[in-house]
Amino acid sequence: MATQLLREWTSFQQFPAATQEKLVNLLGKLKNQDVNTLTILVMGKGGVGKSSTLNSIIGDRVVAVSAFQSETPRPVMVSRTRSGFTLNIIDTPGLIEGGYVSDQILETIKGFLGRFLLNKTIDVLLYVDRLDAYRVDNLDKQVVKAITESFGKEIWRKGVVVLTHAQLSPPDGLNYEEFFSKRSESLLKCVRQGARISKKEIQDFPIPVALVENSGRCNKNENDEKILTTGLPWIPNLVHTITDIALNGSKSVVVDKKLIEGPNANDRGKLFIPLILLFEYLFIVKPIQKWIKDDIARETRPSWE
Ligand code: GDP
Ligand code: MG
Repeated sequence: MATQLLREWTSFQQFPAATQEKLVNLLGKLKNQDVNTLTILVMGKGGVGKSSTLNSIIGDRVVAVSAFQSETPRPVMVSRTRSGFTLNIIDTPGLIEGGYVSDQILETIKGFLGRFLLNKTIDVLLYVDRLDAYRVDNLDKQVVKAITESFGKEIWRKGVVVLTHAQLSPPDGLNYEEFFSKRSESLLKCVRQGARISKKEIQDFPIPVALVENSGRCNKNENDEKILTTGLPWIPNLVHTITDIALNGSKSVVVDKKLIEGPNANDRGKLFIPLILLFEYLFIVKPIQKWIKDDIARETRPSWE
């Protein structure tokens, strides 16, 4: 287990006073429930704003963000402490490569978790996508499926769907509310289908959707807090949602050996390899051996026989 240097969460002072006050209350709520560490896993496709959202929550540019080739090549864990409370956020590379979910990237993420979080928990999953996208396709479902196969279906009980680029003008004919509800409904449906969550299960454990606007051009209120179009300061709101999920009574996901070494979708085929080899031995290698043996026996027979 690598020792992790815990850094004081100094950038906390950079938040506007009003935000700090709200965050202090939320962290206090966690500590009241004996939650002294919160570990958040951030996942999604590339370029959707995962790294930017991490930076927004920490209040500092701690991980690289880029408009082009916006990739964190490997996972990064940012840990900060504040009055006895530890926040860990794990930023991960986008899961899609060459039009498919990359098993290699999934393995890298699991390997990373095994190194830094073995026997610890993932308390919240932020599944990040953009608000300003108009369709949900099979690839989105594949991403959800891959996350589910890697971490178990229960991870969605700890899930928050985060929609970035929240400060947008909706397409003609729709107002913001309508656009938001259409977009979040279709993404939630995609999560439900990709993770095979029944309608009943989702009723009992609804997955919250949080809006995020990471841009420096995000509107602010009179307290200098970044706000959504509704006027809601979104950073405290996101942390509020995260706190609710952390305290929702569902078990956090334990990073154990089974999770790290567990099969994911494409590895499962590998279970058949020994069977295929046995089949080849019995029905191909063996008959050829017998045929050669018979042939040799026939050859070595004296010609007068
Ligand atoms: P990642 O690949 O998912 O980590 O995405 P990044 O955080 O690197 O962001 C990709 C690009 O989108 C960068 O140019 C960011 O500045 C931009 N971006 C991220 N979030 C937002 C957002 O909420 N609003 C706007 N306008 N741009 C964003
Ligand atoms: Mg990134």
